[in-house]
Amino acid sequence: MSTIKSVLIVEDNRGDARLLQEMLIEEGLDNADVTYVGRMSDAEEHLAAHPADIILLDLGLPDAQGLDALRRAHEAAPRVPLVVLTGLDDATTAMEALRGGAEDYLVKGQIEARGLLRSLRYAVERKRLEDELLKEKELAQATLNCIADALACTDTSGRITFMNHVAEAMTGWSFPEAIGRPLTEVFRILDAKTRAAVANPGDIELKHSDDPFLSSDFLLVRRDSGEIQIENSIAPILDRDGTATGAVIIFRDVTAAHAMTQEMTYSAQHDFLTGLPNRGLLSDRIGQAIAFAARHQAQVAVLFLDLDGFKHINDSLGHPIGDKLLRSIAGRLENCVRAADTVSRQGGDEFIVLLSEVQQPEGSANACNRILQAVAEAHSIDTHDLHVTASIGVSVYPHDGQDAETLIKNADTAMYQAKENGRQNYQFFAPAMNVRAVERQSTEESLRRALDRQEFSLHYQPKINLRTGAITGAEALIRWEHPTRGAISPAQFIPVAEECGLILPIGSWVLREACAQARTWTNAGLPETTMAVNVSAMQFRNEGFLDGVLEILSDTGMDPRFLELELTESVLMRRIESTAFILQKLRESGVRVAVDDFGTGYSSLSYLHKFPVDALKIDQSFVRQIDATGEAAPIVGAIIGMAQSLKLRVVAEGVETLEELAFLRAHQCDEAQGYYFSRPVVPNQFAGLLRTGVAAEAWCVPAAETSEAVASQFLPAT
Ligand code: C2E
Ligand code: CA
Ligand code: CA
Repeated sequence: MSTIKSVLIVEDNRGDARLLQEMLIEEGLDNADVTYVGRMSDAEEHLAAHPADIILLDLGLPDAQGLDALRRAHEAAPRVPLVVLTGLDDATTAMEALRGGAEDYLVKGQIEARGLLRSLRYAVERKRLEDELLKEKELAQATLNCIADALACTDTSGRITFMNHVAEAMTGWSFPEAIGRPLTEVFRILDAKTRAAVANPGDIELKHSDDPFLSSDFLLVRRDSGEIQIENSIAPILDRDGTATGAVIIFRDVTAAHAMTQEMTYSAQHDFLTGLPNRGLLSDRIGQAIAFAARHQAQVAVLFLDLDGFKHINDSLGHPIGDKLLRSIAGRLENCVRAADTVSRQGGDEFIVLLSEVQQPEGSANACNRILQAVAEAHSIDTHDLHVTASIGVSVYPHDGQDAETLIKNADTAMYQAKENGRQNYQFFAPAMNVRAVERQSTEESLRRALDRQEFSLHYQPKINLRTGAITGAEALIRWEHPTRGAISPAQFIPVAEECGLILPIGSWVLREACAQARTWTNAGLPETTMAVNVSAMQFRNEGFLDGVLEILSDTGMDPRFLELELTESVLMRRIESTAFILQKLRESGVRVAVDDFGTGYSSLSYLHKFPVDALKIDQSFVRQIDATGEAAPIVGAIIGMAQSLKLRVVAEGVETLEELAFLRAHQCDEAQGYYFSRPVVPNQFAGLLRTGVAAEAWCVPAAETSEAVASQFLPAT
């Protein structure tokens, strides 16, 4: 119960006023401040300065009467409860006063003390409760206006009783305009798919369910005819007996969410860089193409394309240019195929082209040729004219696979073959490739463990001075003893190691081992010879290469002048500038360099001339051309002549026969290496060779076995 601390009595009759005052004191309100004034103007003045808990108001004042007095008192103190005093027989005024906001009325002349106080207390309490209700209602509305969803309420006949601000904004109707109108008029919804008008969902739901009914895929037609994609939910409002008194409709604008979903679907299916379909979407398309081809006895071709030399451009010119180049290539690929075909990017510099309908293999061969040509044409990007080529592997449904995954995998395998065949070409898949691919895969896996498990060793093959027959050096050749597959040839695993990067640790192991071995031999007092070590492209291009070599030299105490690195000409001919730089540094350190497999690549003599190299090793394939008569090998002769003019030492490799040896000696080849003298051997055996030299008969032609003519060329130089 609220306490009353101040009472204002507005009564022009002093006697009546004093009587009321006394009654209040009598009833125990003596602590309260009871004031009385005789005029409305005095009351207004008083209220402006002193808050009152309750006003007792006579409706017959000199300056205000009846409802006018009530209104003015209300205005002067809007939140203060009022009890009016009326005359006898004035029931009408009393009722009007109650409707006009008075909490209670008392009839003059019938007032007794206890009833008076009860009436005042009741009035104060009632006012307090009213205020609280009002506050709650205001809070509720404020809350509903705050929520991000649109909300509307209807009565049982489906007429609007409430709308929040969001609902106003979304429908284009203001609440005052909408109130009392049918929901279907304010809230016009269509089925997003059929565009059929949806009957007032509120009606249906109110009858059938008390679960909220939620559905999406509706369009809301705004008052201005604009359409919004919405999702809405409807629930009945139930009273305490469980009878529906209306419905609440909540709806939400999902246009943005919908657009976002579409965009996400798009980006989930496309490559961000080129905008081409990605692998996921491509797989779907291949699946569709296969289904179609199966029904029409047609074929589907999958072209796996990898750029040659892209990494180089990306590394040297930067990613922004690399990205532009990829986009340019994407554009060209799309121009090479029909609209029904799909060009997709797999990431990196790999693309896959789906030819959805091919009649015979020539069809895809033609497409490959078009693509190879289109990619190879210069791409002018920023200020650069860039050149790249592509290697393509092709797999065809139904021969090479029944599903997208297999077709892609086999096209990928064929692409590797294409690269091995020399790039800028295409290759159809052949089942044998798979066997190789599997083997390659398992090779890679065991290679990863081979170093730790010490499965590698080095064999050494001597090089012979063709004038003196002395051993001039050794070439270190790696050997791998696989725990189950036995010996695996370096020709087989070195390329794999190159591809997966394992060549770096393997290469430094070889170098360190070879240098250490050379030291061991010199320490044992054996004649000093050069140690030749093969260096692969990736090792040579690796940033830490030079430092690595120098570190190994100093760690092992090997004299740099006795180390010779063998580099193939294809390694040397790429990136001429950085190559020249590294070679120069090697020369400064004393390390020598030989060009391995000379003649098989595309050496440019002008560069060879500039490079600080020390020796050329003529590839075995040329040595093989020397036939039994010791003739018809003009290339070998030419190479030797050229090396001499460049003042390079020339070494022939793979010498197996006496005829080959005779020819080489006749043409003043400096050194030779081959089975004829010795196979690569284990360190101990090599130490034996160093001690005793290769058998004289190995390089000195035994007279009995050769014709006079050949023999005459073979007299050891003195
Ligand atoms: P390569 O550098 O041209 O090495 C010469 C290859 O010819 C060796 O094969 C050697 O055993 C073989 N050979 C020597 N004399 C004859 C002969 O008279 N007749 C025939 N038919 N062959 C002969 P290998 O040891 O199988 O090595 C093959 C290739 O593997 C090497 O070719 C080299 O490119 C690479 N390789 C070997 N060891 C290493 C290494 O430690 N590091 C790197 N990066 N590559 C290596
Ligand atoms: Ca070599
Ligand atoms: Ca070689």
